[in-house]
Amino acid sequence: APTLERLGEGATVELISVVKEYSGSRALNELSLTLAPGEFVALLGPSGCGKTTALRSLAGLESIDAGSIRIDGRDVATTPVNRRDIGMVFQQYSLFPHMTVLQNVEFGLQMRRVDAASRRLRAVEALEMVSLDHLAARYAHQLSGGQQQRVALARALVTRPRVLLLDEPLSALDAKVRVSLREEIRRIQTELGITTLFVTHDQEEALAVADRVAVMRAGEIEQIGTPEELYLTPATAFVADFVGVSNRMRGELRSGTVTVRGAQLPSIDPTLPDGPVQAFVRPEDIVFVSAVDARPGDIHGTVASTSFLGSLRRTTVRLDDDTIVSVQHGVEQQYLFGDSVALRLTGRAVASAPETAA
Ligand code: ATP
Repeated sequence: APTLERLGEGATVELISVVKEYSGSRALNELSLTLAPGEFVALLGPSGCGKTTALRSLAGLESIDAGSIRIDGRDVATTPVNRRDIGMVFQQYSLFPHMTVLQNVEFGLQMRRVDAASRRLRAVEALEMVSLDHLAARYAHQLSGGQQQRVALARALVTRPRVLLLDEPLSALDAKVRVSLREEIRRIQTELGITTLFVTHDQEEALAVADRVAVMRAGEIEQIGTPEELYLTPATAFVADFVGVSNRMRGELRSGTVTVRGAQLPSIDPTLPDGPVQAFVRPEDIVFVSAVDARPGDIHGTVASTSFLGSLRRTTVRLDDDTIVSVQHGVEQQYLFGDSVALRLTGRAVASAPETAA
């Protein structure tokens, strides 16, 4: 089989203070985001925060009200969609039903007046890239959802764009296909070196595939960083709460240290005034203490539920003040509903916020 042809270097993509308004309300509020050539960035955030609007603005499907968008340093304000050197895949399978797989993939080349022979060659190459060349003669309705999305990916890449935009491309697929296809997308993206922006509301998906994750909230980027940075050092309570699983616990902040149920944890937010705060504690930062190791100051509670997650278990415990916390532990430890248990915090907190914060 022919080897993958590198599409050339991915482009630098810049959104600079982009504003987009819909009848007076701001979907993008001076959003700034830069993608380095070949970088895979996930745009993560809750429903309605503006992810799709950001992507569509970058693609040229929406006009923007202020700010600028640059691809390789060139302002694309007046560049139409088909000249932005961008390939796109959406959540809904967007294949033409009356065309075969091969014709679907060839379509973009036909629009660019590529001759029939080269068209065929490049479309077959693109289908090989997504391992679907054997289904070239099928029609879209004869494919599974995952196969349709792979065709959509081949179709987006066949014109050799320098930027790839993916808008929730996996959310209509079942869990297993979702995971295998996201790994395939990442592999192809790495091989091609194409700059990629991947919109998702699924934090696990974002952390799993991206070089960097940009967490969006209400039209702005709340924090951007590697998956590790976001998980270990979230800059705000919103990020701590949205990325990964966090327990919210009441604490008392004094000179940079949060005291939570007797444990001293570092505070992330240096601007917070001393006083009552919420601390966000990961389930892996709480441990069960056996009766022989018990100390005064341990937290006591009752097991509320437990779930087996394959390589680990997560058990929720109702504390004496009625807070419920989730504790992660090994599969060999087992707790039953109603068990009396003692817990201890390991001394790591990921963030803290004023107690009044939602
Ligand atoms: P989701 O994950 O639910 O798709 P999202 O983060 O992609 O959400 P957007 O679709 O970008 O969010 O929407 C951002 C905001 O802009 C929302 O408040 C939405 O209601 C509004 N909006 C989006 N498109 C339009 C439109 N065509 N007309 C009016 N308002 C719009």
